[in-house]
Amino acid sequence: MKNMETLINHIKTQGFIFQGSEIYGGLANSWDYGPLGSELKHKLKDLWWSYFIRNNHLNVGLDSSILMNTQVWKNSGHLGNFNDPLIDCKKCNSRFRADKLIEDKFPEINAGNMSNPEIEDYIVKNKILCPKCGGLDYTKIRNFELMFKTSQGVINDENSIVYLRPETAQGIFINFKNVQRTTRKKLPFGIGQIGKSFRNEITPGNFIFRTREFEQMELEFFFNPNDGINWFEYWINQVEKFLTEVLGISKNNYFKRAHSKEELAHYSDATTDFEYNFLFGRGELWGVAHRGNFDLSAHQKGSGEDLSYTDSITNEKIVPHVIEPSVGLERLILAILTESYVEEEVENGTRVVLKLPKKIAPYQVAVLPLQKQQNAAAKELFNDLIKEFDVTYDESGNIGKRYRRQDAIGTPICITYDFDSENDESVTVRNRDTMLQERILISKLKDYIKNDLI
Ligand code: ATP
Repeated sequence: MKNMETLINHIKTQGFIFQGSEIYGGLANSWDYGPLGSELKHKLKDLWWSYFIRNNHLNVGLDSSILMNTQVWKNSGHLGNFNDPLIDCKKCNSRFRADKLIEDKFPEINAGNMSNPEIEDYIVKNKILCPKCGGLDYTKIRNFELMFKTSQGVINDENSIVYLRPETAQGIFINFKNVQRTTRKKLPFGIGQIGKSFRNEITPGNFIFRTREFEQMELEFFFNPNDGINWFEYWINQVEKFLTEVLGISKNNYFKRAHSKEELAHYSDATTDFEYNFLFGRGELWGVAHRGNFDLSAHQKGSGEDLSYTDSITNEKIVPHVIEPSVGLERLILAILTESYVEEEVENGTRVVLKLPKKIAPYQVAVLPLQKQQNAAAKELFNDLIKEFDVTYDESGNIGKRYRRQDAIGTPICITYDFDSENDESVTVRNRDTMLQERILISKLKDYIKNDLI
């Protein structure tokens, strides 16, 4: 049965993802990506990069540092604001995010904007019981710093404190001028980057959905708010196109949720989240935020640098506004795995198949010799194909089992070299999704694969 447990079990046993620090008993909520998982990550990042940066004339890329001057976080509002209100149940000692306790019971309320005393008051007045034990006796709220703090250099004092970035976006804002000057880009244009972010989340979990170390794929799109174009809608549509047309995510499995006025973050003029129906419930997958010119203005004020933009034709001088489509790589992977995982009844039992988008399947092709006698010839075919495709080779076990193994890791094409191959110079090609087999001339094989993978 398809549920969170069967999905996780499958992903772990197939070598996509391992528990982090496993041989030492693990480190809670940390995950290591195995040979197949790392391949999936690389390919998905590449697909995002091609779609949003390389093949999009509006945008350029960036790779900024994880560690930044602490002033960045002071002026972005992260230091001081980027913390969660924590509350403990005195009866069972369970710990919760106090604002989430309210929002889980009353989804229409935005507790994120309440002060701590207001939250405490609301919980008591509305009798929001401990979800674990049903008690109503909580500690006072303590604020929990979400940024990971460390120090750099040999002297460990106040001045050596640095933070691991909790989002990649700020690295883009502080480089806005550098990028604009060196690329001579005119508004509108975007800067995108992919990189690790760190948040000391209080309630990580749901496998790779919420972790403390994760990768973000973010685009900051700068524009003149007077240019008459609705860039917010434009980027919502681009994200939707990427999800449905490039990744094949079904429209039935996600939902676009516009934040209400009360729910908006202090810096945002409008935000729409793409929420996905994960197997544990609905959760934010991709956020598209209209950030106004909050960030550039804040860094302009904080750094004293002129971060405005002057239109070369009209001479109009403005601080550009920003639309930010931001997605977590691992969350997107979880959505894709959820979407792709299928249990199908077949002749001799159930087959588990990952119907991954062909472009991101760890292997595109598997070469399988039918029997030992064909090993050498099949190996030769493998060595030829690997120059152009991502190919794996498997000679162990009966052919049915080998097909199942490739289904389980999502390989779109299996090629079997059999008794007749030497005589008819052809191989049997099997399709992952339909399980249909056809005979293809070896000389036509590469064209066949290229066509199939489009
Ligand atoms: P959430 O409400 O789930 O904590 P958020 O609104 O704080 O998310 P943003 O700050 O908008 O998230 O970050 C943009 C994207 O980064 C999210 O849509 C999500 O895909 C990803 N992301 C954020 N936090 C995490 C995390 N702890 N683990 C994995 N991905 C994350």
